[in-house]
Amino acid sequence: MATLNSSPETAPKAVAFDCYRTLFSNDHDDWRVMFGKIIKEQGLPFDQNELWDKWRKYELQFRANRTVLEDTSQSPPFMSYEQAWSGCFAQVFEDEGVEADAALAGLRCVEHLSRRPVFQDTIPALQALIGKVKVGVFSNADDNSLRPLLKSTGIRFDAVASSESTKVYKPAPEAFQAILGMLGTEPEQTWYVGDHLYDDVEGGNGMGLTTVWINRTGARVGPDDAVPSIEINDLRELPQIISSIGK
Ligand SMILES: [Mg+2]
Repeated sequence: MATLNSSPETAPKAVAFDCYRTLFSNDHDDWRVMFGKIIKEQGLPFDQNELWDKWRKYELQFRANRTVLEDTSQSPPFMSYEQAWSGCFAQVFEDEGVEADAALAGLRCVEHLSRRPVFQDTIPALQALIGKVKVGVFSNADDNSLRPLLKSTGIRFDAVASSESTKVYKPAPEAFQAILGMLGTEPEQTWYVGDHLYDDVEGGNGMGLTTVWINRTGARVGPDDAVPSIEINDLRELPQIISSIGK
């Protein structure tokens, strides 16, 4: 059931979505299986959990350092996920004294993200919105992950932008400005839907968008978390909320 922390008085002109864990599943268990395939392909001397844990340590450092939200002009030079993930593999291989192809392993991660299962509510929700509002996607992702995945839905999106195409990661305001520019809408006319309270909700709130948190797991908003305008458990609640506004 939807929770409206603020009650929108007008229906949006556009709804933009995050991709992973919002429209498509992306679990760590899937990543561990994929790491098993990388190990097999290159004959690496790790088990999949060991490689995942060692690589993830560097990957979390990349995520923590890639955006200086207080002043994004101070952020380090942009790196795509393929570049960053290959770099994480290179660091692990160097630490462990292993001769292996870090670039190929990074490429496999990007490819992996182009084949994720769609949530069962995604297509019906998007179909119910198409034609009523503009529908867009901004994803922290490389184009080689995002574009094949969105194409697989058969949905014609009005605007699609990635961190790679805009050279910026959410929650930086420039990410939201990019998708607003492509949709041709103002922040107060636009809703942003995502699963992540920092990247999606804090970022969208900061830009003055109405934020919708898709909470599929029954998580709680913590005391330090950004508060979404609206909380839903199923994307099909969105078209219902929008059509009920002003009635
Ligand atoms: Mg997400």
